[in-house]
Amino acid sequence: TPTIGVLGLQGDVREHFHALAECGAQAVTVRRAAELAKIDGIVLPGGESTTISKLLQVFELLEPLRQRLRAGMPAFGSCAGMIMLATEVLDTRPDMRTLEGIDMTVRRNAFGRQVDSFETDLDVTAFDDGPVRAVFIRAPWVERAGEGVEVLARVPDGPFAGRIVAVRQGAVLATSFHPEVTGDLRFHRLFVDSIVRGGVGAPR
Ligand code: GLN
Repeated sequence: TPTIGVLGLQGDVREHFHALAECGAQAVTVRRAAELAKIDGIVLPGGESTTISKLLQVFELLEPLRQRLRAGMPAFGSCAGMIMLATEVLDTRPDMRTLEGIDMTVRRNAFGRQVDSFETDLDVTAFDDGPVRAVFIRAPWVERAGEGVEVLARVPDGPFAGRIVAVRQGAVLATSFHPEVTGDLRFHRLFVDSIVRGGVGAPR
């Protein structure tokens, strides 16, 4: 059974906790650097990325987490968690710091004020058993995906058609939307299974 940390500084921590438990992982809250030693992977929940960024620095978790990711620890970020995994963030505060787990540029609150939240069905390349109902809440999108980044899903239609909303680079997975709130466990299962199969992943 893999032990998977859920960064518990701010955001929808409980929803991820439950989803991971349902996928057979041992979920533990992470708030201190010492707790990183016992986890095989980490989930970065949705919430408010500028707040999470600030708290990561206050709790002295930013550098230790960056190091674990650099050493190949698997991670999964949803919404604000996706933002936290980016190498570059647009439309944010100048003091924002991220974990740099995926070579990508992410735009915060990208879908604009008129469409604060919306839902849509997404075809996800990693799943061949039907579309994923995706819930977007003041969501980011991926404006630039680096060469080593696999695009898993794009908005299918409407004014934002083609925008990238799910990506993977090595052992690190990110979604603009919130799989933890729909009861569709496929993303969590993909993440947990990758840890069970691949161990801690290759260093980057
Ligand atoms: N808009 C939030 C941010 O910038 C993300 C929203 C969410 O996680 N639901 O961090």
